[in-house]
Amino acid sequence: MNGRRLVRSVCAALAVAAPLSAQPSTEWPIHSKDRPQPAVGSPPPRVLPVKPPAGAIVLFDGTDLSKWLQARDGSPAQWVVRDGYFEVKAGTGDLRTRDGFGDVELHVEWASPNPPRGAEQGRGNSGVYLMSKYELQVLDSWENPTYADGMAGAIYGQYPPLVNAARRPGEWQSYDIVFRGPRFDSSGRLLRPATMTVRFNGVLVQDNVTLSGPTGHYSRPPYEAHADRLPILLQDHGDPVRYRNVWLRELK
Ligand code: MG
Repeated sequence: MNGRRLVRSVCAALAVAAPLSAQPSTEWPIHSKDRPQPAVGSPPPRVLPVKPPAGAIVLFDGTDLSKWLQARDGSPAQWVVRDGYFEVKAGTGDLRTRDGFGDVELHVEWASPNPPRGAEQGRGNSGVYLMSKYELQVLDSWENPTYADGMAGAIYGQYPPLVNAARRPGEWQSYDIVFRGPRFDSSGRLLRPATMTVRFNGVLVQDNVTLSGPTGHYSRPPYEAHADRLPILLQDHGDPVRYRNVWLRELK
């Protein structure tokens, strides 16, 4: 085989292999009910809460919401603080951090309402939005089927979790997130998309996936240039989901 033919055949092989090498978020129509459901995986026993490491920024230490604001207008946070956790107060709207953050390692503990109420997307729905734009879905995914890209551990509308590692309603669960935000040049052109790795109850459910842009309901909008640091947002989807022990480390 001469050199040119070799190059051509290698290129052809790569072209065939490329679609298998990754699972782009746009491979399936958004919220497709035909998209395969992840296997149910038993999360390992784990003792929560996980203490923040030295140097971590603690966003909720069990006592107050002083690091949080109502996302809509920046007024004081209205969600309920009780017994070391805080809970979505339905109808008050999303919360966001006072400060903005870019690339982070973020630890969040949460619990679905118990007893559960509703079904599918109406059961224990909330969400952790990195940079207020990129949603890691929070949902009661214990025996509660819904479209795969909308279950707990999904990058909403883009990537189902690799495994359904959900615990029962009322049990504390954990997200350990490594997020790197997108980069834009001075003219607003995308230099590098956002990426996310997530462990759900200790189980890897997102393996350094590349986001197609901000997340949305039946919508995969393209990237639009934004600041390097933006608040983390928690979603009020009308369900009394609980959160506690929220901390992060900024990644250089
Ligand atoms: Mg949500």
